[in-house]
Order: sequence, then C-alpha cells, then structure tokens
Amino acid sequence: MLIFVRNRKINTLSYFKLGLNYAKKQDQNDELSTYRNQFHIPKNKQGNDLIYMTGNSLGLQPKSTKSYINQELEDWANLGVEGHTEAKNPWLPYHEFLTKSTAKVVGAKPIEVVVMNTLTTNLHLMMVSFYQPTKTRFKILIESDAFPSDKYAVESQLRHHGFDDKEGLILWKPRENEELLRYEDLETILKEQGDEIALIMIGGVNYYTGQYFDLKRITKLGHQHDCMVGFDCAHGAGNVKLNLHDSGADFAVWCTYKYLNSGPGSLAGCFINERHAHNKALNRFTGWWSHNKTTRFNMRDEFDQLPGAEGWQLSNPPILSMAAIKASLDIFNEVGIEKLVKKSKKLTGYFEFLLKQLGENAIKIITPSNPEERGCQLSIQVLNADKTLHNKLTEAGVISDWREPDVIRCAPVPLYNSFEDVYLMVEKLKLILNE
Ligand SMILES: *Cc1c(COP(=O)(O)O)cnc(C)c1O
Repeated sequence: MLIFVRNRKINTLSYFKLGLNYAKKQDQNDELSTYRNQFHIPKNKQGNDLIYMTGNSLGLQPKSTKSYINQELEDWANLGVEGHTEAKNPWLPYHEFLTKSTAKVVGAKPIEVVVMNTLTTNLHLMMVSFYQPTKTRFKILIESDAFPSDKYAVESQLRHHGFDDKEGLILWKPRENEELLRYEDLETILKEQGDEIALIMIGGVNYYTGQYFDLKRITKLGHQHDCMVGFDCAHGAGNVKLNLHDSGADFAVWCTYKYLNSGPGSLAGCFINERHAHNKALNRFTGWWSHNKTTRFNMRDEFDQLPGAEGWQLSNPPILSMAAIKASLDIFNEVGIEKLVKKSKKLTGYFEFLLKQLGENAIKIITPSNPEERGCQLSIQVLNADKTLHNKLTEAGVISDWREPDVIRCAPVPLYNSFEDVYLMVEKLKLILNE
C-alpha cells in the first residue's frame, strides 16, 4: 500500500515499525495530538481511558459542547421568545451559522448545504424531488449491502409511487467470494438497464466494508444514462474529503452524530447541487421554513420558494441540537479536513500494518487497501470467530462494533484517537486470538 507522507510516496508496509515506543513517538510528532484533550474519552471503572474505536457509530463529545448548549439554555431562560432575535446567537437564522463550516467539511458551496431534520427524513425529502419515476423509468439502484434504513426508505418510495419494491430495486452486488464493489459491474448494469433506472442512491462510504466510492465516476456514469444520482454520506462526512460539488451529484445526505461528533440523534445535513438551486419546478415538500425569509412572518403570503438547499427546510429547527453541531464544526473548521485526512491515512495505515502482523490465517481486512478508497474505518473479518471475541474485546477495554457473522468494524478517528490507541487495540486482539 502506498501513502503520501510529507509529499513522499511511501510503502507503509515497510514504513511503519513495531512496538509501543514507536506508537508513542508518532503521537509526540503528531501536530493534531492535542485535539484528543478537547474530547471526553469514555473511561473504565478504574478511571482509565477506554480504547474507543466506534466514532463511526457515535462520535465522542467535544468538551466545548456543554457551553455551546448552555448558552442557548441561558438565552431561553432569560429571553423567552425574544431569543429568536435577541439571543447571543439569534435562533431565527441559527442554521445559517452552520452553513459555511458544513460546506467546507463536505466540499460544497454554501448555497448547496443545509442542516435540517434527521438523516432518513432528509433522504425521503430528497427522493420527493429527485425520484420522479415514469412508467418505463422507475427503478432505483442501490448497493447490495446498503445500510438497512436506506434500503427501507428506497423500498417505501417505490411502493409509494405504486411500484413493486422487488421489481423496482436493482442491487449493485459484489462478485462471488468478494466483498467490494467493482465499477465494471455498475457499468454493465447501466448498459443493460440504464434506461429503466430513475435514481442511483449509493452510500458514499459503505458502512459495512468501509469502501469509499468514487462519487464523481458514479455520478458521471449515472448522468450518461439520464439517471438522478444521490449519495448517503453518513460514513463520509467528517471522515473523507467528499468534494460533493465537484462530484456533480444531484443530492447527498448525512448525519452529524458519527464522524461529526454532534451527539446522539442530532440533526442531519443535506446537499443539493447548485444546478437545482433555483429550479422551482422541481417537486418538493414544503413548510414555512422553505419560504422567503423576509416575508416568512407575514404569515399570509402566497408561498415564495427560498433558493438553494435552505428551500428544502420544513420547520424551525431544534436549537439545542444545532448548538452541539456548531461546537463540533468549530473544531473541524479550526483543523481543516485536509490535515485530518492526512493524519487519518497515516493512522489507519499504521492500524493496517499492525493487523497484518497477525497473519492471514487469523484475520482478513475487507476494507480496500488503497487509502484513496477508504476512510479511517477498517472492517476486520476474524476467521472462525463469533461474538464472544467482541465481548472479550469489550472486557479488555476496546469499544468496537460487531457485525454478524464475523466482522469487527474499527474506526481510529484522527481527531481523538492516538497511535497508542491503535497499538493497544491490536495487542489486545492478539492476546485474545492467542488464548
Ligand atoms: C447511520 C446511518 C443511518 C441512520 O439513519 P438515521 O435516520 O440517522 O437514524 C442511515 N443510513 C446510513 C448509510 C447510515 O450510516
């Protein structure tokens, strides 16, 4: 595997070294290492840090989050309804305080993004606009290992439009004895059935394998066949450089509670390509928050569509949850996604290097070995393992994620995981495997 370190192309399998001292040295030399102190790291009963490898499921809490939320609680206590305009961060335009940082994190223009609702809700709203089936072109293409919520959402859209959810769903599947998806196979599907497909909806980074798809390539292919193309970037936002605008995708959605560290069930993000920003003919569901801001409170006007992603909002949003998002985005803004991704590649490369020492008879890494085709997560298939392995890891202080029948998903997150975390995790796994 090749990665770039200080602009030099290096082969990581001979680049990294074994031993705890090496890990500690990497942490000392890591310019982002101090950010770990800005997060609450969960602890065991003895008060020692757990090895938290599940930032792909629920990101950790920034220590600053509490004061951001407290600010809004205080303004609410002191101002009541006046807080909408008089709060330190007025609530009426609060979502606008998140726009610039959100756009930066996902590589979009400000007009293309908005924070609203929750993820699956946004996916449905996007399909109201971008899934416009006809009698002959009504199918939806997803990856066969799509996140269950996405699959259920897509199936229900098919039924909602009166189609059979089995006939209408096309799966992009891995080949036999493989886990990853191949673009040649997508090309074949599109060549054969492209004119029946209305929408391609892919998880930008697959939640199970960690495969980071080439969004631009998929979009280009889809558009060549006149399909709409959207991505669920729940596992991409805050993890990889998404470049959503350049991808050309019609829409994308993501949550903020995974890599974006904004708290359980927090609000989600939504991207709508600039080329749709002023298209009032596009079908959509609307509410008073999709209406022109300057006349919104006249309350009696005819509906006047807001341009851009904001025009897909429905309701006035939960400020407390947005405050948590602001706390987190302020950290991302300070670090920048470039630096994060650079550390991430090194940290995950090191993780891969250590795991490979366990030998092919013990584990297999499903995630692509090319760092450009993955984020920080590695999905590790442990041969002959069952869930007792996961339980033992938990007892040993490693918080990881188990997927039946035999896969552990681990995500060393560059903002708060250390090289030492990665080292200790693999040592613990090794001990358990050697029992
Ligand atoms: C985490 C995740 C979800 C969860 O959806 P919610 O609406 O936030 O509950 C959906 N899709 C993908 C791809 C995910 O990774």
